[in-house]
Amino acid sequence: MDILDGVVRNYAWGSRTALAAMRRGPVPSPYPEAELWLGAHPADSAHVRTDDGPASLLEVVHADPDKQLGLAAGEQFGDRLPYLLKLLAADEPLSLQAHPSRAQAEEGFAREEAAGVPLDSPVRNYKDPSHKPELLVALGDFEALAGFRSPERTVELLTALDVAELAPYVALLAGQPDSDGLRALFTTWITLPPQVVADLMPRVLDGCIALLAREPDGPFTREARTALQLAESYPGDTGVLASLLLNRLSLEAGQGLYLGAGNLHAYLHGVGVEIMANSDNVLRGGLTPKHVDVPELLRVLDFDALESPLVEPRQIAGTGQYVYDTPAPEFVLTRIELDGARPSVTSEMRGPRILVCTEGDAQVCSGGRRLDLPQGCAAWVAATDPVVTLDVVGDRAQVFEASVAP
Ligand SMILES: [Zn+2]
Repeated sequence: MDILDGVVRNYAWGSRTALAAMRRGPVPSPYPEAELWLGAHPADSAHVRTDDGPASLLEVVHADPDKQLGLAAGEQFGDRLPYLLKLLAADEPLSLQAHPSRAQAEEGFAREEAAGVPLDSPVRNYKDPSHKPELLVALGDFEALAGFRSPERTVELLTALDVAELAPYVALLAGQPDSDGLRALFTTWITLPPQVVADLMPRVLDGCIALLAREPDGPFTREARTALQLAESYPGDTGVLASLLLNRLSLEAGQGLYLGAGNLHAYLHGVGVEIMANSDNVLRGGLTPKHVDVPELLRVLDFDALESPLVEPRQIAGTGQYVYDTPAPEFVLTRIELDGARPSVTSEMRGPRILVCTEGDAQVCSGGRRLDLPQGCAAWVAATDPVVTLDVVGDRAQVFEASVAP
């Protein structure tokens, strides 16, 4: 067990306050800080503070996978840490995106390798042959678009906008209120010729403004407001139209959002802990200056309406541990709450683990070793390390623990 130093990624959509304040650094930070990567991803590995100085977690795992990952994880996932843990802070919306299934990723990776598309090419879609299920747990209010809304409800929304130019599209979905209808409408919108978009978009945005004026607290207020905000950042982007087809979610602190293969999503605003399979495979559908490959996106998208992508945690009875169960075998995330009433918790998880303190101050103990884990700091625990306990320092602390699903 050692302290783990993550890597900050400075994407433009990041926050200049959230991650800096969590790490108790100078606020505002000189650049927007979007993500803190805690993992062994080849593109940006975190570093373990060993007795001999900092060492890349990627190399630490590679040097002794049996000890670091354990035999069970090694057998299941090979000689690599199967998950990537991140702290994420979005001041601005992220791109509209989806991730492939394992079979799609294997096929796409092989196809692009055979075609000789360089791994670092901006038009490369598949960086590795892995799927990328992901779970986000909100650390405060968190806003997102995730999965297609039920077609019936979307017909209600589009009708409420009361835009004559939308009539043929409403009729299309109302005439086929199922996944085929959603596929047809999404495909039509995402591939509209620029001239049609230039005519349609202002009408739709006017419809949003009129709806907000008419019904300031109506059932589609957030949807209309989000479309207007996205259009301001990405004028003329068909992703603005696509946003009207997706579930508009507001998560509270502690709520989770799980996205399996093919679910179209865009994180809009907020701070969270995110865990995913250790992959970089993203297919974008708009709201970004980056590469958008519409045909490839259409191949992987799941057009079934997503009823409820929210994940409520399961408390381990009698402890301050809250487990976020998902179907992904690569990871499980646990939130640990420590306070005066429950100053110490023994971790129930096994396997290669990463702990990150998101609030207050904690200490982590394994065998005879004890490390300070203040807010914004992380620790790496090898699968073969002795039992881990966490202790609060002061009033309360919150720690997230990443591990491989049992
Ligand atoms: Zn994603």
